[in-house]
Amino acid sequence: MKNILLIGNGAREHVLAETIVQSLHHPKLFSYMKTNNPGIASLSEKIQLGSYADLDAIQAFAKVSEVSLAVIGPEDPLNNGVVDCLIKSGIPCVGPQKSLARLETSKSFTRSLLQKYHVPGNISFKTFSSTEGIEAFLDDLEGIVLKPDGLTGGKGVLVQGDHFQSRKEALKACREILEIHPTVTIEEKLEGEEFSLQCLCDGKTVVATPPVQDHKRRFVDDQGPNTGGMGSYSCENHLLPFLTEKDIAAGLSITQAVADALYRETGLYYKGVMYGGFMITRSGVKLLEYNARFGDPEAMNILPLLKTDFLDLCTAIVEGTLDSLPIEFEKKATVCKYIVPKAYGLPADSPEAQSTSSRIEIGDVGAARLYYSSVDQKADGLYMTSSRAIGVVGIASRIEEAETVAEKAVAAITGPVDHRPDIGTWPLLEKRIRHIEEIKGKSG
Ligand code: AMP
Repeated sequence: MKNILLIGNGAREHVLAETIVQSLHHPKLFSYMKTNNPGIASLSEKIQLGSYADLDAIQAFAKVSEVSLAVIGPEDPLNNGVVDCLIKSGIPCVGPQKSLARLETSKSFTRSLLQKYHVPGNISFKTFSSTEGIEAFLDDLEGIVLKPDGLTGGKGVLVQGDHFQSRKEALKACREILEIHPTVTIEEKLEGEEFSLQCLCDGKTVVATPPVQDHKRRFVDDQGPNTGGMGSYSCENHLLPFLTEKDIAAGLSITQAVADALYRETGLYYKGVMYGGFMITRSGVKLLEYNARFGDPEAMNILPLLKTDFLDLCTAIVEGTLDSLPIEFEKKATVCKYIVPKAYGLPADSPEAQSTSSRIEIGDVGAARLYYSSVDQKADGLYMTSSRAIGVVGIASRIEEAETVAEKAVAAITGPVDHRPDIGTWPLLEKRIRHIEEIKGKSG
């Protein structure tokens, strides 16, 4: 029997916890969390609460729990070097070392890596540490995207048209970014449809999991501010309605080339998840960014479909034997909808954003799976805090059914909650298809 350390406290880690304890190796789960997640706690042998920056505390918890493997969910502990620290104590990790996690934390590192090793899918970009030369580069671009270096909690990317309008405003935003961040990467704004390809990597072999589409905007029909993600879907044929096998092959081959480049650049094998955010554009599949971990919500779309034993998968990742492990996912569709407090995503000074902790009741959710995120279990029930509360996942043979399962469960959760009813519905999917036809039409 194995003892496994899981680091993280969100819905992504709740589904990871479930997938770990379902292993036929009957592992015991030891969870280190920033704040208590009652879903993860209920699956764990033991939990410890603490900061993701407190590497000594994490290491001590791992030692006393006699864990033989660690799975790291979020980006913060990766960026703090938790993997380097655990590896030093002889604990193998599913998650990259700090210098490899730069794939997510440093946008300039990733763009320059692609450039240096001639990896396809890169776009026009330049990195600046001062404002010198910025104006001239901005003049060269048709559309502008600004990316600060360093972790920004998913809220650092500024896109022309969304966050700023003119070149003058872009320059002002660059000045502000450079006051806090060492560099800013400026790149061309792409137009197209996005898809997420979460790939598993042992440093040599890269394996794709079913593609997923996330919905970042707060409100129906992709209106409102960007959020951590309001929900996501995947299809039974492991494609998306607007995505071909060729597009997936392109994303996978870019990721394989990046894994090879990372090894050549650092001499280290990347062991963990390389989550590529790609865009299908009129000139092919382009890389938007990498995350060094599963997505939240996207982990909830793929992990429940995994047929291969998750601990066998983790062992293959740390031992570098992914090439000889058959990895299978059920041919089912999934729809994930996040239950959020009504005020989620609204500006902090708006009147609606003043309500904080509120109780929610969970009725009969049928066949849906629930994964807890920012919720508190108190003596008198379950309370939401200020962020995304529960990921509700419907799984079925077809996307319409999966959407119905999720929507029925959402209706059974009462309180001052909100969600996006349009995720996984045909009108939204058809909009994506029309968009891609329009994009491809422009290339023909
Ligand atoms: P985040 O996940 O919050 O860091 O935001 C990343 C988002 O910024 C992506 O999902 C895209 O929607 C957008 N984005 C990033 N790079 C580009 C780009 N070059 N062109 C257009 N949109 C981009």
